[in-house]
Amino acid sequence: MIDCHTHWGRAWTERDGLDPRRWLEPLTAHGVQRAMVMPEEGLLDAGRIGRDNDRVAAVCARSDGRMIPCCTVNLWMREEAARETRRCLGDLGMRGIKFHPWLQGGSVSSPLMDEVCELAAEYGVPVLFHDGTPPFCLPSQMALLARRHPGVQIVLGHSGLFEHWREAIAALKGTPNLWGCLCGPHVAAMREIVRQCDLSRLLWGTDHGYGLADVYQYRFPLMDTLRLSDAARQAIFDDNPARLLRGPASASKIR
Ligand SMILES: [Zn+2]
Repeated sequence: MIDCHTHWGRAWTERDGLDPRRWLEPLTAHGVQRAMVMPEEGLLDAGRIGRDNDRVAAVCARSDGRMIPCCTVNLWMREEAARETRRCLGDLGMRGIKFHPWLQGGSVSSPLMDEVCELAAEYGVPVLFHDGTPPFCLPSQMALLARRHPGVQIVLGHSGLFEHWREAIAALKGTPNLWGCLCGPHVAAMREIVRQCDLSRLLWGTDHGYGLADVYQYRFPLMDTLRLSDAARQAIFDDNPARLLRGPASASKIR
């Protein structure tokens, strides 16, 4: 099982330094083998991005391959954004790029975003977004970006949250390289997403690590209420994230 939406948050650094053992405990307890790990501090403060990317890479390197490191950059860094992306994907071997355009104050329509997507294509990694909050984080905005970059896998990290899940459904239906992570919408919305969207592009995530709480105790029962078929569970929890992480050759087999 792969959790496609987690963070290495400041609270963990303050308590555990660069030791991932306690962060991994709830995953082990709930049978989750691996997780895509995104920064937190770097999303909140552009000045700390380099240091936070280093930190996420270092923590994940101590996890026996269970934590898959993703970096972030801020578009206000201008040409430094592309340089930092290349450093993270090339030198540090990070496996995804996360943006929170609303928090980071940058539009997905920026030419620099296109440059970062070209680097994502070059390194074969997905670009993950916080979505579900205007003005910069609407699913349709990510869909437009995905259409400009058909070779890049773009992930809606929240599938529209509470208010924009209908828009997420429309965006997912019309964009074959757009993926939806079930992390945030309420149960009725998730039910509709599963019913209407291509099952081979749905993922699951928890936002574990934003704080110290064990969010799996909340997220798993929520998924259970969907009464997914065994095939759907297998796709969403295992097969889809594994395919996303293998890179463009497998991801593009999706129909
Ligand atoms: Zn998150």
